[in-house]
Amino acid sequence: MNDVKSFRKEDVVGKTVIETSGTIRGEVKDVLFDLNGAITIVVEGKDGQDWQVPIRRVTGISDNVIVGSEPTTTATPSGSGASCKFCGASMTPKERWCPSCGRSQT
Ligand SMILES: [Zn+2]
Repeated sequence: MNDVKSFRKEDVVGKTVIETSGTIRGEVKDVLFDLNGAITIVVEGKDGQDWQVPIRRVTGISDNVIVGSEPTTTATPSGSGASCKFCGASMTPKERWCPSCGRSQT
């Protein structure tokens, strides 16, 4: 049973989201997908603020949803456009959510 497992939305919504470092980040509220096949988990943080986690950051789903820690990749600074105020990833000014760490910029 090492095959890639499929999950239903119901399998993850309501589960606790924990970083690999052990930090509890909140609870899964919803699952988003787009037509490019990108899947994002919406987490309701403990502070009540929504937090979006790209599925590629999820490392495991069992009783809890395990996500990798904040990416430590060096952000590519671009001359134009804004950057995430949390992780420094470059993003377009109109983006509300950082494409790298998924945090709200508002
Ligand atoms: Zn970010």
